[in-house]
Amino acid sequence: MSLRFVIIGGGPAGTQAATSAARLGAEVTLVERDIVGGAAHLWDCVPSKAMIATAGALDEVGDAPGMGISVTPAELDLGALRGRISGIVGQLETQGRGLLESQGVRIVKGSGRLVDPRTVVVDTEDGELTFEADAVMVSTGSRPRIPEWAVPDGDRVLTTRDAYPPEELPEHLVVVGSGVTGVEFVHMFSSLGSRVTLIVSRQQVLPGKDPEVAAVLEEDFLDRGVKLFKGARAVGIDRTDSGGVRVRCDDGRAAEGSHVLLAIGSVPNVEGVGLDAAGVEMDGPWVRTVDHHMRTNVDHIYVAGDVSGKLPLSSVASMQGRKIAEHVMGLHKVDHRHLDYDKAASAIFTRPEIADVGLAEADAFAVGRKVRVTKVPFASSAKALINNDPRGFVKIMSDPATGVVLGGSIVGYNAAELIAVIALAVTNGLRVSDLAECIFVHPALSEALTEAAE
Ligand SMILES: Cc1cc2nc3c(=O)[nH]c(=O)nc-3n(C[C@H](O)[C@H](O)[C@H](O)COP(=O)(O)OP(=O)(O)OC[C@H]3O[C@@H](n4cnc5c(N)ncnc54)[C@H](O)[C@@H]3O)c2cc1C
Repeated sequence: MSLRFVIIGGGPAGTQAATSAARLGAEVTLVERDIVGGAAHLWDCVPSKAMIATAGALDEVGDAPGMGISVTPAELDLGALRGRISGIVGQLETQGRGLLESQGVRIVKGSGRLVDPRTVVVDTEDGELTFEADAVMVSTGSRPRIPEWAVPDGDRVLTTRDAYPPEELPEHLVVVGSGVTGVEFVHMFSSLGSRVTLIVSRQQVLPGKDPEVAAVLEEDFLDRGVKLFKGARAVGIDRTDSGGVRVRCDDGRAAEGSHVLLAIGSVPNVEGVGLDAAGVEMDGPWVRTVDHHMRTNVDHIYVAGDVSGKLPLSSVASMQGRKIAEHVMGLHKVDHRHLDYDKAASAIFTRPEIADVGLAEADAFAVGRKVRVTKVPFASSAKALINNDPRGFVKIMSDPATGVVLGGSIVGYNAAELIAVIALAVTNGLRVSDLAECIFVHPALSEALTEAAE
């Protein structure tokens, strides 16, 4: 008999684990209450990046005169944008579902919960279904965190899930939270035509990021007329007489706008999943893992994706899912690579884009580690000038003794794609000389990578 693997939650972690385990011969049941693809497709990565792509197209129309084209002002069609987003989400779900079904994965629509360590009950539209499992993976994801001082109404007080796009384009959006999600929303709404105020709790946007990287983004925001409330924490929201919002801050200032959007992190979806019934221990609000295989304290119950409290990225969730499937199927009895969170590439889809991987210069400095830092500005790249966007730079951090690439940051056009080259080097222990020996295309932005590696 095949190993029975039951997965609760069909986001990137769940779908990847399902497909990998099915390929390796498991009998897989995937339980999902919304859509195959998960919140990543329905609410988070896909709709946000689809909105950003539309915002980028508008920006490019605005930049057309710089490319030698005269245009009449472009107009945003919110209905068409909404249709475009649901079209992409629908297409991805059909493809994802088709792939899983072709591999023999049983997809069950409903809410799953453990009733004991080896039994998953699913509440479906037609009643309860029960599945016995040899291994279980919980990948139920997360949802926006709502502070006690805010009550989202889907109208003027929005979470990220109300914003794809809202019924009307906010005349003036106040964004609370200047982490990755917050700055992406600032970028998208200011490009779409809203006035934007950003509440920044520290003295720089993207707290924790390389200050040089954050500075490029702040400059872009200021150029677009985004108002920054630095060093201010939001503590309350009032509705104004004109129907708008006033966001009160702890330093006495208040930001007024037509709408407010909360982008202040997420909380795990653990309620009703039956973790306690199965004896699974928690680590604060997150499910606790006891080893790098992502096992919980109950040997055959694994946890993956946002609910694990590790790095909340879709790409990381998928990799966790794949590694768990391999472990469940006994592949890790032989030599294998552990998932190394420190080597995960990540990107921020602003304009310019920001991407990094591995060791950050500031982190190396903080622990007194000696690193060689080489930096090449895109202003010296022929392709950046041709693209009419010479902002940003490539920075590579390497070990001064061995030349091994330890990390990199890229700010600029297509940074999210370009970082792949440095990620390959970081993951595989390549040296800067390995990069410098590559003959890349000319003219291309990637030439800046070989230059920085010289
Ligand atoms: C606005 C925004 C933009 C983002 N953009 C990016 C990006 O560009 N790139 C990136 O890498 N990451 C991005 N992220 C992060 C990314 O979305 C998450 O890290 C990723 O979705 C986590 O995947 P997951 O598998 O844990 O679960 P999710 O994608 O959260 O899916 C979990 C699924 O479990 C289901 N579920 C929950 N409970 C049950 C239950 N009891 N029974 C059945 N089903 C259940 C839910 O319906 C959901 O479909 C973004 C996040 C946000 C908020």
